[in-house]
Amino acid sequence: MSKILETFKNKSVELLITSIVAILGVFLAIIIDNIVAPFVKYVLPEIPLKTLFALIGILLVLQILSIIVIILQKNKLAEKVDLNDYNFDKKLGVYIHKITKLHFCTSCIANNIISPLKERQDGWVCARKYCEQYYINPTIRNQNILVKINPLIAIG
Ligand SMILES: [Zn+2]
Repeated sequence: MSKILETFKNKSVELLITSIVAILGVFLAIIIDNIVAPFVKYVLPEIPLKTLFALIGILLVLQILSIIVIILQKNKLAEKVDLNDYNFDKKLGVYIHKITKLHFCTSCIANNIISPLKERQDGWVCARKYCEQYYINPTIRNQNILVKINPLIAIG
């Protein structure tokens, strides 16, 4: 008996979902018919053929241009970071640009992204959102330890 009830319950849920989808489909068809049919019947015949072909040509050119832009962007993203431009600082754990001497995030460079580091009081933090990797400056940390051991060092 319970098996029959279970089957009835599953079938009624399926029927309900199918009915809702069918009703939405009918509404969508009515809306499309009310918009597209008058356009095809009254507006389209009034547009000269040359204008239609010109519009189609413009759309085609725009489509081709957008495809070219997408391909160029993909190639740009695929370019690898040239590590020859940077020195890796083992003590700091960051990359330093050979010419500008700016510090860059090691974590981001590993992901092929060049992200400069923002200088903070006791180190550096990655400027890129969603990374925000923190790098401690070991020389500042050592100074703090010395100050804790002998506070007179800070004064002198
Ligand atoms: Zn980063």
